[in-house]
Amino acid sequence: MTDDDPSPESADVTTAPVDERAAAAAQSLPDCPRCGRPVWVVTVAEPGVGTASPCGCPVVPGSLERE
Ligand SMILES: [Zn+2]
Repeated sequence: MTDDDPSPESADVTTAPVDERAAAAAQSLPDCPRCGRPVWVVTVAEPGVGTASPCGCPVVPGSLERE
């Protein structure tokens, strides 16, 4: 009996699109002035006071935005 077909199950390829998306996003995202990591979101707590995510460094809202 040669009925056991060793077909690989594609269970580990689900991270590929995520990596591509992260890499593409990192190129268009501004860098944190404190740690240099790409800033995904700037949370504004008060006027002139913001927090970069995901690194968590304090930044000035609007200073990282690119047009
Ligand atoms: Zn930072």
